[in-house]
Amino acid sequence: MIIRGIGLDSSAEIAFQSHAHTDHFVSGKVIVSTKATKFLSHLKKGGFYKTYDFGKAFYIGDYKAKLYPAGHMLGSAQIYIKLDEFSLLYTGDVKWFKLRTAEKAKFRRADVLVIESTYGLPMYNFPTPREAEKKLIAFVEQSLDKGKTPMLYANQMGKAQELLKILDLHGYSVRVSREILKVAKVYEKFGIKFRNISKEGEVLISGFKNQISFNGVHSSGLFVSGFGDLKLSNHADFWELIRIIETVKPEKIYTRYGYAREFARILRGLEYDAKPLEDVLFSGELI
Ligand SMILES: [Zn+2]
Repeated sequence: MIIRGIGLDSSAEIAFQSHAHTDHFVSGKVIVSTKATKFLSHLKKGGFYKTYDFGKAFYIGDYKAKLYPAGHMLGSAQIYIKLDEFSLLYTGDVKWFKLRTAEKAKFRRADVLVIESTYGLPMYNFPTPREAEKKLIAFVEQSLDKGKTPMLYANQMGKAQELLKILDLHGYSVRVSREILKVAKVYEKFGIKFRNISKEGEVLISGFKNQISFNGVHSSGLFVSGFGDLKLSNHADFWELIRIIETVKPEKIYTRYGYAREFARILRGLEYDAKPLEDVLFSGELI
């Protein structure tokens, strides 16, 4: 979306990029992000980034703004912009519960909230990250007991590093794909250390598509995603989204990504003024 000429996870002359997942990549003369997002994005693309720390006031175009942690992955940010008539909080991808490798999300009150809705249906009720962690370790232990190599499939940026950190804390050595290793090196620059990466690792982590070839390895696999076998998600589930809204207390809500239409309908049933963002983008209501 573009508001007052400022792109929010959309390309514009001045564009805010909430985090380093490729579906949020933007182009612009200036791209505003956190430092971690810049470093992670530079693994794949160029661009001139202007970086800001969380909680520090700055100007984006003519408007005062601040970044707040979104809790989705290392460096993921929400942006708060004080426009003339109202304040706006744009979440990007967001997580209420704290993950081990992402900054703890912080939410502030705003008049208008633009919130992601990837899992915006009540059926999406995920275990907390700590509960999911126990399930993960149980899977690893059961696989090892059966003489099989635990093989975890996950998004190579963010989720894979979260798994790596959990396995590190529980004392497992891990073999990872080259891409996961590259991203992990950037995480280490920002203080998230991994002491357990090894070519002979007893657990394997791989991307969904670029699976490590594991000749002769007798493995048992687990897909780690809100849509997969183990719902260790770096997105808010429906109930986390509701908690976020109750904290931000917005007068208007616009939903973006995933179940935007359905989530907005549910919110209207809860007496919020809510619409899917795509319905208003060309109406001038937000621009
Ligand atoms: Zn994302």
